[in-house]
Amino acid sequence: MKILVTGGAGYIGSHVVKALGLEGHDLLVYDNLSTGHEWAVMYGTLVKGDLADRVLLEKVFREFRPDAVINFAASIQVEESVRRPLAYYGNNTVGTLNLLDVMVRTGVRCLVHSSTAAVYGIPEAVPVSETAPLAPINPYGSSKAMVERILADLSLAEDFRYVAIRYFNVAGADVACRLGQAYREPTHLITRALKTAHGRYGRLQVFGTDYPTADGTCIRDYIHVDDLSAAHVLAFNYLAEGGASEVVNCGYGHGFSVREVIEAAKHVTGIDFSVEETGRRPGDPPALIADSSRLRTLLKWEPQYDDLDFIIRTAWEWELTLKRRESCAA
Ligand code: UDP
Repeated sequence: MKILVTGGAGYIGSHVVKALGLEGHDLLVYDNLSTGHEWAVMYGTLVKGDLADRVLLEKVFREFRPDAVINFAASIQVEESVRRPLAYYGNNTVGTLNLLDVMVRTGVRCLVHSSTAAVYGIPEAVPVSETAPLAPINPYGSSKAMVERILADLSLAEDFRYVAIRYFNVAGADVACRLGQAYREPTHLITRALKTAHGRYGRLQVFGTDYPTADGTCIRDYIHVDDLSAAHVLAFNYLAEGGASEVVNCGYGHGFSVREVIEAAKHVTGIDFSVEETGRRPGDPPALIADSSRLRTLLKWEPQYDDLDFIIRTAWEWELTLKRRESCAA
């Protein structure tokens, strides 16, 4: 089928493009390359464009005539969203509104949408299920929760179906080491830890040691990017077979503290890098762990890589590959 993938040159999008390409779909990637890379698009055609550019977006839709859309194009950093809320509401909420408007006007009725565990804010209990109240505590989470509201309303008003996938903490890299995170200034814990091990940063900062958790640091449900990709393929197939609109969590159902992740990163790399304990980072909830039973039962999701050391190992191999590429290019 013909699938338009927004943000398909980015970290998660490129892994999903790989998975859909392997299944033989005809793909068009629409990406502004603000954080994505041309080399990361392994299948299909890349069009450089922004969700804010409605004229280009509509032209691309009318020419490509997709059967469905998978939407990854978004800004994703919690701390940045606290400093630059308008940028987040603009890119994530207004950008997706533009996309939906073009979809409706060109008759495209199926969407797999990237959402986030940040829509829950500080959940009353973990693991958190999809029925928990949405109470985001940062503009990133709010910008995504607003889109979920818009999607729910749209699917009631129109012949329009979607699956919104609420991601927990996505990490790791393509097992064959062709893709991985390649942000200019990465902020995520595992990538920062590995770049510290590699010598790019002098020390890794631990943001907050006074959270109400066993060791005082935040707990997250780290999920391998290829398991998340598989969830997108399943969601797409579900919609293609006529499935009704759904919202699903995607995580493994157990979490690790920042300190545990650091220990695992030291173990996998064999490097005892420096760590500095500092204050809390604005917008961080203490613990986020997924109840993914809906994804497992409804979409028959069976994760393959539920192993923190394995996740970190794939990310580390990717980090070493990136470093080699940079030295060759220099
Ligand atoms: N974190 C940290 N040091 C870093 C990066 C992240 O202590 O250099 C912490 C962060 O405060 C959070 C957890 O690691 O508690 C996961 O953060 P990340 O940015 O990886 O993902 P998020 O949960 O914000 O999506």
